This record gives sequence, C-alpha cells and structure tokens, in this order.
Amino acid sequence: MPRKIIIAIDGPAGSGKSTAAKNIAQKLGFTYLDTGAMYRAITFMALRKGIAEDVPAVIDLARNIDLRLQFDNGVTRVFVNDEEVTDQIRTAEVNAKVSDISKIPEVRAELVKIQKKLGERGNIVAEGRDVTTVVFPNADLKIYMTATLEERTNRRYKEFKEKNVEISREEVKENLAKRDRLDSGRAVSPLKKADDALEFDNTTISIPNELDILIDKVKEVLDGNRKSR
Ligand code: C5P
Repeated sequence: MPRKIIIAIDGPAGSGKSTAAKNIAQKLGFTYLDTGAMYRAITFMALRKGIAEDVPAVIDLARNIDLRLQFDNGVTRVFVNDEEVTDQIRTAEVNAKVSDISKIPEVRAELVKIQKKLGERGNIVAEGRDVTTVVFPNADLKIYMTATLEERTNRRYKEFKEKNVEISREEVKENLAKRDRLDSGRAVSPLKKADDALEFDNTTISIPNELDILIDKVKEVLDGNRKSR
C-alpha cells in the first residue's frame, strides 16, 4: 500500500474547491475536510448568542465548542454540541460575518489544531484558505483553485436561487468580492497561492473534466510515492 497522502486545496469563495474536494474524496474513498464549515459554525454560534462583536467571547466560544463534521452522501453535516447546524451555517448573514470571525488569530489556532489532528490519519482532501500554506504545508498535492468573479457569482447566485433565498445577483457578487478582499488581506494566514501549489482556473472547465484532470494529478503523486519507496 502506498503511504497515506494529503491533498490540500485553497482558493477564493465560489472557486469550486468544495466540489472538487468532495469529488476527489468520493472517487478515492478519502476523508473530506471542509475547513470553511468550521469557521462558519463558530460564526453562526457567535451570531446566535449575540457575541459576534465581542472578540474575547468569540475566542472563548472557539475554545469550548464541541464541533463535529460528518460527511454523508456528498454533504458535510455540521453539528455543534450535537445540534445539527448544516443549513444554518450557509446563510447570507453568516457569509457576511465569517471573514471577521476567521481573522481572529486565537480562533484560527483552535481550528487549525483540530484540522491537523484530522490530517494525521492521512488519505484526506482538505479545502479552505490556508490548508496549503498553514494547516498542511507538507501536503502531497497542493491546488490553488480560481475562477473569474463573474463565474463565481453565477455559481453562488444559482445556489441561493435553488434554495429560494431572496438575494440579488449584485449582493452575491459584492459579498464574494468583499470576502476575497478580507480573506486575502488579513494579517494571519491570508489566502494566497503557495509557491508549490498547482494553479487551476476552472472558469470554463466542466466538473467531470476537472475531476479527470485532478485524479490524474493525484495518480502522479501516488506513482511518485511508489517509485520512491
Ligand atoms: O470555504 P467557505 O466559503 O465556506 O469559507 C467561509 C469563510 O471561512 C471564508 O470566507 C474565510 O473567511 C474562512 N476560512 C478561513 N480559513 C479556512 C477556511 C475558511 O479563514 N481554511
């Protein structure tokens, strides 16, 4: 058996990281780790408790939260203290606040600790903003996903429409652009392409095509592992 590997995917909001990571994980039987869901869960709980502006209280929440992710039939189910919050973490309110919460260094430190622990088991596909740079700097395959802002807006807008959420295309676009700005501009673990990451622009690539290309890349990594043993 080849050694267990880690695949890490970073990129801006709506770049298709989750779709790619889920598809790779399902195809290879790997664990899928949606790190954004963790930042979203903390943000949702902070908003619900009315403490989102109170940084020490948010840090306290992050240190004591009982967070569980469960990947079922292509969906990451998220539980906080055994309550399922899978849908609540994907609202426009959480979207608008999550970048403020995720820039708090102590919150990141707590979540990165959990993420590294999950990575120890290997054969994992992780996606987020800092998984190629901070969480798994030694990942076997690093991908930086991108797509144009127009295309990313189209994707998110369609998702909201499918859920019958009242939101304009312009609002969706502004939220994406703002999150990109905040996530790339923050002092701690900003979103950036790791030097050794493969840049993958999927603006005009279909999902099945993308999966074929990425699986080929993973196979190259696995072949390399076999040869170097
Ligand atoms: O990937 P997703 O859009 O669900 O992430 C939500 C937010 O969580 C991002 O906009 C970012 O602020 C934060 N995040 C992060 N680091 C990660 C994953 C997500 O700061 N590794």
